Amino acid sequence: RQFEDLGFDSVLMGAISKQGYEKPTPIQCQALPTALSGRDIIGIAKTGSGKTAAFVFPMIVHILDQEELDKGEGPIGVVCAPTRELAQQIYLETKKFAKPYGIRVSGVFGGMSKFEQFKELKAGCEVVIATPGRLIDMIKMKALKMCKTTYLVLDEADSMFDLGFEPQVRSIVGQIRPDRQTLLFSATMKKKVEKLAREILSDPVRITV
Ligand code: AMP
Repeated sequence: RQFEDLGFDSVLMGAISKQGYEKPTPIQCQALPTALSGRDIIGIAKTGSGKTAAFVFPMIVHILDQEELDKGEGPIGVVCAPTRELAQQIYLETKKFAKPYGIRVSGVFGGMSKFEQFKELKAGCEVVIATPGRLIDMIKMKALKMCKTTYLVLDEADSMFDLGFEPQVRSIVGQIRPDRQTLLFSATMKKKVEKLAREILSDPVRITV
């Protein structure tokens, strides 16, 4: 399979070749067509597999498909990751592909003061890359609304649970409309993750690499 077969526009194809990505990785081969079709995904994959692009490319297509982009406020795509380091990596990877479209990406994790973060979110964005604790803080501070969010990614769900973020993850999911598309990735499939997946995904496609 080639990126050309996925129906991406010339802007995304240009950004992909600029990054030197010649062909999709195995997880991308499985996840991209499924995510592009709008289905929920439960993916068992580790960092290094190319899973970030596997959820970022469909997120961009999803955002471009939205009508009336500038009406209302709040992000359309939200990605939650367990640590600031991982969130930062996802943020940088997302920016590379979102920037050519003028899609605004906000990083909601430690490193920036809460006041600066608040101001950035108030200015508006289409995508949020977040750690759960900081995202909850920002929602409580009314820095952003989740009413427009229709594409949710939970990355390294097992690590988020191991770090004790289950209540925060559940609270975030509970604030996002149920007609969203949800992608859940985890390095391992423990009982707790399976249970969460059963509760928050609808008719998911299971992907293992
Ligand atoms: P990830 O698992 O998302 O952290 O990606 C691991 C590394 O692979 C990152 O440096 C990506 O930029 C890179 N990468 C992702 N997709 C591809 C691809 N199709 N071809 C080459 N490199 C890629």
